[in-house]
Amino acid sequence: MTKEQFWLNVSAPNEDGCMLWERAKFKRGLGYGVANLKSVQQAAHRLAWKHTYGDIPDKMCVLHKCDVPLCCNPKHLFLGTHQDNMRDRDAKGRNACGQRNGMSKLTEAQVFNIHALRKDGVSTKAIAARHGVDRSTINLIVRGKLWKEVYNSLPYNPEEIYSMIIPERSVTKGADCRASKLTEGAVKDIRWLATQRVKYAVLSRRFGVTRMTIHRVVTRKSWKHVK
Ligand SMILES: [Zn+2]
Repeated sequence: MTKEQFWLNVSAPNEDGCMLWERAKFKRGLGYGVANLKSVQQAAHRLAWKHTYGDIPDKMCVLHKCDVPLCCNPKHLFLGTHQDNMRDRDAKGRNACGQRNGMSKLTEAQVFNIHALRKDGVSTKAIAARHGVDRSTINLIVRGKLWKEVYNSLPYNPEEIYSMIIPERSVTKGADCRASKLTEGAVKDIRWLATQRVKYAVLSRRFGVTRMTIHRVVTRKSWKHVK
């Protein structure tokens, strides 16, 4: 669809100044307009931004000032980070990037974590139990059907997702446990991941400790006091 064709599908401004996308909407989510660009489906309001201001910077969301999902009036659109987007969602009761609030009680970090766990071979059943959501939800997430915007907005490549989430818990600050880089939380994670048959080599990389350390943690030769 060319730029001219795109704008032919957008209404004249209504009394609020909103210019509505008149073609198809996404079947799921919040009712954003859907348009094709080089046969790839795109949210209409994102295309409206591109056609007006140029490329959308990486990882940025196009948000609505007017809170009308179908609106393509460039003056009603603004760029925000994913964080802004989440804040906006909280303020408006939904995620302006395309996720309905209440569709899931997961946080962004959990979604990253779910992808990482799946990548490490943890079963969807175990992931579902760990995050306290239905297995069907986990399935949709790992297949990229749910929380897709979150996944697409990952600041790192998938290999790095896990390390992004875990380190806060695994690296001790001012450690009193001198020989160890691990924390109680990390120890629990390691043991749980081991029960999910995640390999020592993977755990070693994830947690930044040697395989021997992982082995000692898993077999409870160290960190005995942690249940
Ligand atoms: Zn509008």
